[in-house]
Amino acid sequence: MVGMSTLRTRAVHAGRDDLVELGVHAVPLDLSTTYPARDSAAEAARLDVLAGGELDGRMPVYGRISNPTVERFETAVAELEGCTDAVAFASGMAALSACLLAAVTAGHGHVVAVRPLYGTTDHLLDSGVLGTSVTWARAEDVGSALRPDTGLVIVETPTNPTLTEVDLDALAEACGEVPLLVDNTFATPVLQRPREHGASLVLHSATKFLGGHGDAMGGIIACEAGWARRLRQLRMVTGAVLHPMAAYLLLRGLSTLPVRVRAASATAGALAERLRGHPNVARVHYPARSGGALVSFEVHGDPVAVVGAVRLITPAVSLGSVDTLIQHPASLTHHIVAPTDRHAAGISDRLLRLSVGLESADDLWEDLDAALGTHNAEVTPSE
Ligand SMILES: *Cc1c(COP(=O)(O)O)cnc(C)c1O
Repeated sequence: MVGMSTLRTRAVHAGRDDLVELGVHAVPLDLSTTYPARDSAAEAARLDVLAGGELDGRMPVYGRISNPTVERFETAVAELEGCTDAVAFASGMAALSACLLAAVTAGHGHVVAVRPLYGTTDHLLDSGVLGTSVTWARAEDVGSALRPDTGLVIVETPTNPTLTEVDLDALAEACGEVPLLVDNTFATPVLQRPREHGASLVLHSATKFLGGHGDAMGGIIACEAGWARRLRQLRMVTGAVLHPMAAYLLLRGLSTLPVRVRAASATAGALAERLRGHPNVARVHYPARSGGALVSFEVHGDPVAVVGAVRLITPAVSLGSVDTLIQHPASLTHHIVAPTDRHAAGISDRLLRLSVGLESADDLWEDLDAALGTHNAEVTPSE
């Protein structure tokens, strides 16, 4: 298990341990799409190895198969998540798609999933476009929803956008031999390492906290060697590769991940408290156990008006950036989920989701309070 102080240190150094040997300080960014080699027979033998999803530690053959800068990011995330391997993709959805295709091609295309999930994940599963079928189950009913052809169990915790916490130890036990995929985008390895609780696959939309600055898209699956081989094979044939420039930025983001997540979580906890006391707020959702940088709350008035009224906070989808973002899930992230399914999953039309960044809590509160409409002098902040 990676201790907290170790995590902070490894977040800075993982994926960069050889830089002193190399005589460089910044991570080398390799933008080659192809790699010259004079010996074609030797390259053919290497391709046979690479086609099996193995890495041979040498210069790549072609950019769709592997890339040294991307491998550094993979090494770092694998280590932070306590896994032997990680496989990076062009986005979080590309990473999830590869896992679903792996299940389908193994003849286990049935998925058991727990709602709520990220809206597009919900849609991908519900529509079955990749050849999967889904049984939606409550976390405590997952065991009885499993079938002989179940290839994956999929869960998010804390859930998006209601921030409900799922007991991963109990869920992993209920899954038995069936691989459990945990979307760890919200908690990050700073607050939760699902592998330690029995998950087989840990998914990140690296676009969010791992990158942390809203300027690079990516996805990654941390896992063990067998899954990594299958995922690399699928990535090679489907082409959903992470661009090396994005890998460079995402790896740079990792070095500040523990500091950013801890600071944003402290502010989010403070804002959740203040929101609880606001007369225009009906209900606040904040994870009691894991904490984190996200706060969701239901308003008495028009939630869309609140998004329109903020001035410091950025009115935008996405999360995990250095700046604070607010969005209305029913209009944006979960618009794609049918209203009946949305409501059954506990996503109220009056819910707003706040992704807290690194601004001061007082400045954020001033903006939120003004946007919510101040009708009660008692709720002005105390500090
Ligand atoms: C954003 C997000 C995704 C999808 O990731 P992309 O990088 O946008 O493809 C999946 N899960 C969660 C929890 C997310 O927030």
